Amino acid sequence: MSQIAENLEFIRQRITAAAERNGRSAKEVKLVAVSKTYPPEVIREAVEAGQQCFGENRVQDALPKIDALPPDLEWHLIGHLQTNKVRKVIGRFALFHGVDNTALALQMNRIAGEFGVTASILLEVNVSGEESKFGFTPTSLPAALEELIPLPHLRIEGLMTMAPFSENPESAKPVFEGLRKLRDALSAASGHPLKELSMGMSGDFEQGIAEGATIVRIGSAIFGSR
Ligand SMILES: *Cc1c(COP(=O)(O)O)cnc(C)c1O
Repeated sequence: MSQIAENLEFIRQRITAAAERNGRSAKEVKLVAVSKTYPPEVIREAVEAGQQCFGENRVQDALPKIDALPPDLEWHLIGHLQTNKVRKVIGRFALFHGVDNTALALQMNRIAGEFGVTASILLEVNVSGEESKFGFTPTSLPAALEELIPLPHLRIEGLMTMAPFSENPESAKPVFEGLRKLRDALSAASGHPLKELSMGMSGDFEQGIAEGATIVRIGSAIFGSR
């Protein structure tokens, strides 16, 4: 077994165990293998080990990899997206995790309409309030949702957040709990389900799953440290 296959197997076991500890099923948690900085040959090893869904954070790195690999893979753009790159990415990714302002979302809706497609997105929320982080503030979300939900070429699937960097994974828990509670309140108020919660990376995905993550984004624990 390759190192990547072994790592993937171990991560899948940990996802299953974390789900079961919290009375959930591993089927409710999607693993996005974050392949940023790794070339197509390395990604292919993960494909051979059964992984179908990959996450990239930079448009200019991602597009050539998508072109180089089999067409049946599922790609997520997990990083910040600039408004001037929207035309390059619409139709190329199954889910956009880092939609962090309304101007960007409006532009995505406009270009998706031009292309005759619908873009599935997550709204990124800066739950921790760290200045270095992208995202909607929790207080700005109700108004943003009201504006974005009616747009015909966007499908708002849920919310995404990143916890502040910490040596202690438990410190991510209140941030993830905050995202879940925000989702529960917003979906009750808007009637829009916001089913997906993208939260948890290599260092804190078990805490994400404990707090209700439906998507975890795991890079270094699969591919090695960058
Ligand atoms: C790089 C990255 C990840 C994966 O981080 P690891 O610690 O390597 O698992 C997850 N989410 C985002 C937004 C990233 O940029």
